[in-house]
Amino acid sequence: MRKFLCAVLLIGLLCGCSYGDTLKSDRLFQVALLQSLMQGEYDGVVTVGELKNYGDTGIGTFKGVNGEMIVLDGVVYRALWDGSVEVAPDDETVPFSNVTFFDADIKAGNVNASSSNELKSILNSIVRKHGRNQFYMAKVTGLMPSILVRSELEQKEPYKPLNDALKTDQREFTYSDIKGTVVALYCPDYMDGLNTAGWHLHFISEDRQKGGHVLDLKVQDGVLELDIISEFAMVVPNRESFNVKSLATDMKKDIEEVEGK
Ligand SMILES: [Zn+2]
Repeated sequence: MRKFLCAVLLIGLLCGCSYGDTLKSDRLFQVALLQSLMQGEYDGVVTVGELKNYGDTGIGTFKGVNGEMIVLDGVVYRALWDGSVEVAPDDETVPFSNVTFFDADIKAGNVNASSSNELKSILNSIVRKHGRNQFYMAKVTGLMPSILVRSELEQKEPYKPLNDALKTDQREFTYSDIKGTVVALYCPDYMDGLNTAGWHLHFISEDRQKGGHVLDLKVQDGVLELDIISEFAMVVPNRESFNVKSLATDMKKDIEEVEGK
């Protein structure tokens, strides 16, 4: 009996700190591929309501690339083509996104950058220290002396490839002295076929009224929080339009154009 109890206790202890459990809060969840989005796979894969089961922080877009997604503190925001921001309804659908349950493994204050490239270099120096082959979700909160963001008009079927759509339907907004949070995702180099390697930045203002995909910015005295993520999960749509696409095609140049790198 005692042996049995010991075994139960041991199993309990092992389960209490099992591999899966430890990583549960430390998992990056991805909806489809950036490469499928690039090729015009704009129909939703999961709903906003479902997405929230996989993370409280992240970035993405909506059905028909109808706005840029910023997920912060469990709220899914949509930065629309006209510069306005709304809370996305739970039944809206999502063709591409990355979310995680954010816990700050690293915190730093006094972050200053005069461009998005400088901010990325600052973030990269931390990534090099903690492991360039991990995933990272970062939040940079503070004053942005200037920021250039974009969103885009909703696309209707037949869907055009994303870089064609953005040529006419991208809208850019510059804001000065605006407080807010940059939500940034880092994917390691080996993710180049599924997403884009390096940093991808979205922004939402403190009053949650402005936001979008970051093309450039200045940060003054920002507070940086960084979540190191060691597990990756992905869901893909099972439908004809997705299954006929050649997704091993090298789309690096097109992606750089769309990302504004
Ligand atoms: Zn974006």
